[in-house]
Amino acid sequence: MPVDFIALSNAGVQQLKPYEPGKPIEELERELGITDVVKLASNESPFGPSPRVLTAVRNAAESMHRYPDGSGYRLKAALAERLGVRAAQISLGNGSNDILELVARAWLCPGDETVFSQHAFAVYPLVTMACSAKAVAVPAKEYGHDLEAMLAAITERTKIVFIANPNNPTGTWVSASSLDRFLARVPEHILVVLDEAYFEYVEETAYPNGLSRLPAYPNLIVTRTFSKIYGLSGLRVGYSVSSLDIAEVLNRVRQPFNCNSLALIAAEAALDDPDHLEYCRDLNTSGLAQVAEGLEQLGLSYIPSVGNFIAFDCGREAMPIYEALLREGVIVRPIAAYGMPHHLRVTIGLPEENERFIDALREVLG
Ligand SMILES: *Cc1c(COP(=O)(O)O)cnc(C)c1O
Repeated sequence: MPVDFIALSNAGVQQLKPYEPGKPIEELERELGITDVVKLASNESPFGPSPRVLTAVRNAAESMHRYPDGSGYRLKAALAERLGVRAAQISLGNGSNDILELVARAWLCPGDETVFSQHAFAVYPLVTMACSAKAVAVPAKEYGHDLEAMLAAITERTKIVFIANPNNPTGTWVSASSLDRFLARVPEHILVVLDEAYFEYVEETAYPNGLSRLPAYPNLIVTRTFSKIYGLSGLRVGYSVSSLDIAEVLNRVRQPFNCNSLALIAAEAALDDPDHLEYCRDLNTSGLAQVAEGLEQLGLSYIPSVGNFIAFDCGREAMPIYEALLREGVIVRPIAAYGMPHHLRVTIGLPEENERFIDALREVLG
């Protein structure tokens, strides 16, 4: 009898399904034999990184035979200055996904629980179950986080609460007042991970900056990333800001060189170009309006979003529409795995890409 290594994996891993990423452009071009595929499937920035990043990375490529600075000294110093926090509060990661995983690994024991919202980012249950802990998804309210219900879901076994603000794939957000009411009532030994991957896009005045809550809440971990507005998805770099004790724990469990040398250089250069960030934010805001208007004209409803993506309701099973869009050379994202089988998520692209998406959708819906 051959050994069943799946059955030998830990109890949580046995129940896991791998994360399904957006379909790569190359793959679809190969399948269709075409070359002008538009990918609006992974919330990547259509504008790419700042030109300063490209110069910095080219120069740094010469040194790739050296290990990176494992402490990330320069990037942490640059972040600390920009964010008004101490460098020792910052933990760097191979994407912010790495930080989510480190938090789970450092604190979760088999049988512990994490709490998050229905329709929230798929990585929360994934990192939870990989530690054989129990993932508790709390029913959403109009697709958004129901923080009151999440509080009520906390038990003796709860170790971590994940809040995505804004949330992916719904684009919903939690206001400053509701976040503060929530934080004030979470038992102080429970970690609250506030995932702000799309922070830089949000223009709502009632949207809270998690960093300003850190002094009052030593159990709070704010995560951010260079993958989204900064346009560095392919390099993998993100970070958290927390109390010093939490940063100390993350530093114990991380790989010694969990952030590669080009990623460190690129992120530092990206921080140095606030004009590029503003440009990307402005164009995203107008792109959101463009896509929303297009959807309305097609008679489709959508969830109002403050991120760089919109989840829209196909009014029926979305998978055939996703597949028909692929045949038009447009890749969007099915989100049935998020409990939303009638929705598709489209990332805001360049104005002409947004138009191509709307045209393709019109074609497909006939
Ligand atoms: C994209 C995303 C992340 C992190 O991505 P990284 O590339 O690992 O930094 C984290 N949370 C949410 C909600 C996201 O959508």
